[in-house]
Amino acid sequence: MSNLDLKPTPTPCGREASGGPVKELLTGRPVPLGESTVVRRLLPNLGRRMVGAWCFVDHYGPDDIADEPGMQVPPHPHTGLQTVSWLHEGEVLHRDSLGSLQTVRPYELGLMTAGRAISHSEESPRPHARHLHGAQLWVALPDAHRHTAPAFEHHADLPVVTAPGLRATVILGTLDTATSPGTTHTPLVGADLALTEGADLRLPLVPDFEYAVLAMSGRVDVDGVPVEPGSMLYLGCGRPHLPLHARTDAAVLLLGGEPFDEKIVMWWNFIGRSTDDIAQARTDWMTGDRFGEVHGYAGDRLAAPELPATPLKARGRER
Ligand code: MN
Repeated sequence: MSNLDLKPTPTPCGREASGGPVKELLTGRPVPLGESTVVRRLLPNLGRRMVGAWCFVDHYGPDDIADEPGMQVPPHPHTGLQTVSWLHEGEVLHRDSLGSLQTVRPYELGLMTAGRAISHSEESPRPHARHLHGAQLWVALPDAHRHTAPAFEHHADLPVVTAPGLRATVILGTLDTATSPGTTHTPLVGADLALTEGADLRLPLVPDFEYAVLAMSGRVDVDGVPVEPGSMLYLGCGRPHLPLHARTDAAVLLLGGEPFDEKIVMWWNFIGRSTDDIAQARTDWMTGDRFGEVHGYAGDRLAAPELPATPLKARGRER
């Protein structure tokens, strides 16, 4: 991470604090996912753990998987969060313990609400497209909703907002006048912005939200900062609009939301509020309780790693 502001605003933004715009360039950390995929992890990142309720951002590809198995993530559990599968190329076959069996394709929303407990697998189907390119995102559920019933939603026809040089697909929440049908539990937005070469625009934002932009492809300047594909620029809050300039055809993800003011414990695939929450979830997964069963995946389910010897720490947005 590098902070490009010479005098960054030290006050965190939030409901009670008066925060302001910043520009923090976050680079992805390579993380192996399953046996054949390497992703770039943008969140959590050093010093920056959340953007609104968005608490986990992986960018992967574009990878040529013509002669590869592609994504193969065996059954594993989740609790206390929602997962968002978002593709630009390729497809992901989703199976879960509710019995869902869904192929998610580019520009379609696969939204899984873990709530109190769910398990799922994600795989490149056979046959599959040559290229795989997308993002895997998590949204933390607020305390009041983190024990909600698990659910899976697939929305193939998301609302689109257009302006000269811009085609924005609303993944979650509201952008301008369009609202995604995906279920949310905190005020937030996720949008895919396709920009044509030469586009120069000011995107309207909600000043109370904090935002980040993840570059997916092409060359784009975000508030004057070139952001390479696979990198993310954290923008802070207090912005009525965001200047975007596309040097080539380009695509970015806009992620934003009301700053999440609860401290959470994130460990492996679980989000809780205490070490006990996490330890119980781990035990329940290992003993076969609570998380149900994923049917049809060719392979074993994932075993949970050992819990660390020291208690897990509840952390806020920044550390
Ligand atoms: Mn998962």
